[in-house]
Amino acid sequence: LNSRLPTVGTTIFTVMSALAQECGAINLSQGFPDFDAPAELLDALDAAARAGHNQYAPMAGMPVLREAIAAKVEALYGAQYDVASEVTVTAGATQAIFTAIAALVHPGDEVIVFAPAYDSYAPSVELQGGRVVHAELLAPTYRPDWAAVKALVTPRTRMVIVNSPHNPTGSVWTADDVAALADVVQGTGIVVLSDEVYEHMVYDGVRHESVMRHPELLQRSIVVSSFGKTCHATGWKVAYALAPRELMAEFRKAHQFIVFTVHTPSQVALAEFMKKPGWYAQLLALYQGKRDIFRQALAGSRFELLPCEGTYFQCVKYGAISDEGDRAFAERLAREHGVAAIPVSAFYPDGRDHGVIRFCFAKSADTLGRALERLTKL
Ligand code: PMP
Ligand code: GLN
Repeated sequence: LNSRLPTVGTTIFTVMSALAQECGAINLSQGFPDFDAPAELLDALDAAARAGHNQYAPMAGMPVLREAIAAKVEALYGAQYDVASEVTVTAGATQAIFTAIAALVHPGDEVIVFAPAYDSYAPSVELQGGRVVHAELLAPTYRPDWAAVKALVTPRTRMVIVNSPHNPTGSVWTADDVAALADVVQGTGIVVLSDEVYEHMVYDGVRHESVMRHPELLQRSIVVSSFGKTCHATGWKVAYALAPRELMAEFRKAHQFIVFTVHTPSQVALAEFMKKPGWYAQLLALYQGKRDIFRQALAGSRFELLPCEGTYFQCVKYGAISDEGDRAFAERLAREHGVAAIPVSAFYPDGRDHGVIRFCFAKSADTLGRALERLTKL
């Protein structure tokens, strides 16, 4: 078979969740909560389905949800998007990212992607015949080296994909990072694809620096966020993309043939749920508490904690425990010690191994307690 993705196997998330299940390990690998979505959201879903919202939604998404999204980003980031032409509901952030790339990247175009990065970016670019150009993020802070990023820009650079808060490292951009990005793309035709799915998980009182706060960046950005992360509902696969009219018109040309439209009752339910005051503060307090408990417990272990400024992931070095490669260590951790994690080499284009694994702490107090008991014994 003449594969379009010859170096791609099954995603590490599928592999590690399957391993966790196989050996009965506590699953801190794939990023999803082990507690349920809020009851109000589930009730709203039931009500939406029973109210007859069961046929195709409009291609761009249910107007009530698009209105709620536009109102949210205006309130939080001061960004104004036209509900009719600049907001599109997608089947997860994964589809939004894929669609943005499919719509905009021509064969031979270069796309700057940071390394490590969420694993869907590079294959999505490669499927369009684009060329991924990697910019290194270095431990322990994993901040971009902006001079190095600037040096990667060529006349062929079509897009730069950014992600703050960052999966897998939990690093969070400052306003200076956003300004530096604006400087890199100024005077070019580069489109910014900003994956902000962890926008509500930025800790210690720091604010999320969305590209939407920067009027010049906003003009050339497609911003993506996901209700999966924001509402403890990763299985619903409902997310959205925001972009200025001309970019969004291109996005929708592809969107209509990739998925056409997204699960209708979920959209109505999410629009209803978004009226709930105080949800984002509640979400943040919940995850800040989990992060603090997880870090405090691991601080007394032989794992070396890397910073976690945002997301629901905590990366650690395990060099004091083992000199194995990260895949071997993660597998043995699951099989022998009953805790599954993600080897961070899976987020590097060349599978580079820095001896780092990633835990997801979006888990109940009971799950975290049991996992920490095992991890602190190592
Ligand atoms: N981007 C990042 C950085 C993620 O961590 C995830 C979650 N897996 C996604 C995109 C995909 O989100 P969704 O489940 O909404 O497709
Ligand atoms: N975003 C989640 C993670 O990073 C899961 C994504 C997936 O399963 N594809 O773990």
